[in-house]
Amino acid sequence: MGQPEVGSLEEELRLLSSEMTRPRARECLLCYLYRMLEFGCRGHEFTVRYRDLRAPRATALLARLGRMGGLCCECEVFMNAYQPNPRYFAENVDGDYIVDPMPQCHGVRRGSTQPCCLWVRIPRW
Ligand SMILES: [Zn+2]
Ligand SMILES: [Zn+2]
Repeated sequence: MGQPEVGSLEEELRLLSSEMTRPRARECLLCYLYRMLEFGCRGHEFTVRYRDLRAPRATALLARLGRMGGLCCECEVFMNAYQPNPRYFAENVDGDYIVDPMPQCHGVRRGSTQPCCLWVRIPRW
């Protein structure tokens, strides 16, 4: 895989300005963050980017994700807060959901930070 070395400020700017890290039209926050996981754990960088580009009025977004278990970073959101909706994902023999290829985001309205129906909340114990 030709993963770019991330480190220099120049690389950083290039990554952030690239089309790959831009939310797609109507793409929901969760599908976007899931797509961005391939760039590694970057704290809440992509949440902030989504918010700035798509939902600038969602000022409580990070606090809300934090309460749901995504306090430190975006991988935590997928460990603690949201999981693939079993209705849309097949399971492999181990009972894990097959997320490759990822189904197309079902879409949300602009300004929304809610996930589309591909994601459901993980029950808290
Ligand atoms: Zn992380
Ligand atoms: Zn989605």
